[in-house]
Amino acid sequence: MINVTKSYLPPFEEYQAYLKKIWSTSWLTNQGPLVTELEQKLKEFLGITNLLFVSNGTIALQLAIKALDLKGEIITTPFSYVATTTSIIWENCTPIFADIDPKCLCINPKKIEKLITKKTSAIMATHVFGIPCAVEAIEHIAKIFNLKVIYDGAHAFGVKINNKSIFEYGDISTLSFHATKLFHTVEGGAVIVKSDKLNKKIFLLKSFGHLGDEHFLAGINGKNSEFHAAMGLCNLPKINDFILQRKAIAAIYLSELKSLPLTFPEIPEYVEYNYSYFPVFFSNENELINVKKDLAKHEINTRRYFYPSLNKLPYINSKFSCPVSEDIAKRVLCLPFYQQLTLQEINRICTLIKKSFNR
Ligand SMILES: *Cc1c(COP(=O)(O)O)cnc(C)c1O
Repeated sequence: MINVTKSYLPPFEEYQAYLKKIWSTSWLTNQGPLVTELEQKLKEFLGITNLLFVSNGTIALQLAIKALDLKGEIITTPFSYVATTTSIIWENCTPIFADIDPKCLCINPKKIEKLITKKTSAIMATHVFGIPCAVEAIEHIAKIFNLKVIYDGAHAFGVKINNKSIFEYGDISTLSFHATKLFHTVEGGAVIVKSDKLNKKIFLLKSFGHLGDEHFLAGINGKNSEFHAAMGLCNLPKINDFILQRKAIAAIYLSELKSLPLTFPEIPEYVEYNYSYFPVFFSNENELINVKKDLAKHEINTRRYFYPSLNKLPYINSKFSCPVSEDIAKRVLCLPFYQQLTLQEINRICTLIKKSFNR
């Protein structure tokens, strides 16, 4: 069976060496030495000043909303993983959906402005498939209307624009290190902020709001463990190689599939891309369903990602219309994509896709 992704596991001995360290100190969680080491190495790797390792990418989003004290309406994207929307609802705010730009698949800044009301407190956008949002335009709008900006950067690990980390933009960026992501710690995530003051606040919020006996805020448990940090420390040194391997796989897919009625995202030249996913866009939903079924018959799993458009979720007010997102969500399929995929497997997948179109 070929799945849409395959989590990388380091050689067992590498992980075991970290386990021995944990056994020698019996320090399992609560800002242990491996968590601190991973945070330090991630900051160096990404070229940023503040980063907090948390238990997952969803709690990272919730901590971001909480730390900025957001209320009322948050303008967000309908084309993302469901956690982007549910974290807004979970924090007692209302998601307001602005349609996406069909080229970059991220929120369309031109659609944001029209939706701003007195109740709007923030913009929450996703760098979809690692393709950056229109960060300059969003920053401009946020400044004029005095709004906070949160980027869901779950797909954007290692992405740079103009040689600068994508996580330098916005008030807060959040990451997911889930087992299915490019860089993973089994479960995990991070919150990245520019402001030291806000960073301290989030540090408190993720650990019950207290330091020792002194209590400051009503926090939550968003901490992560030494075992998860150990997985991250094993995987991080390999990420640049993974990105290169994935780039090569993407090039093979593209050359094999370019004759078919499919389109692919265009990565702007100023972007240093991370090849986190390989989405293809069909001309219609029926063609997608046929290919997906034909691949599944051969135990090749693809994923409709993202589907449905989030404004169509059953618990969302149906007043939102996002025709671009709704259309793209019906036609996008992510193909199996991970660095361990062999040339033989890629060829088999491409041959089956071509056959499916020819029948
Ligand atoms: C994976 C993902 C999340 C959720 O992250 P978890 O670590 O699974 O909680 C949120 N947003 C996006 C865009 C994601 O891809």
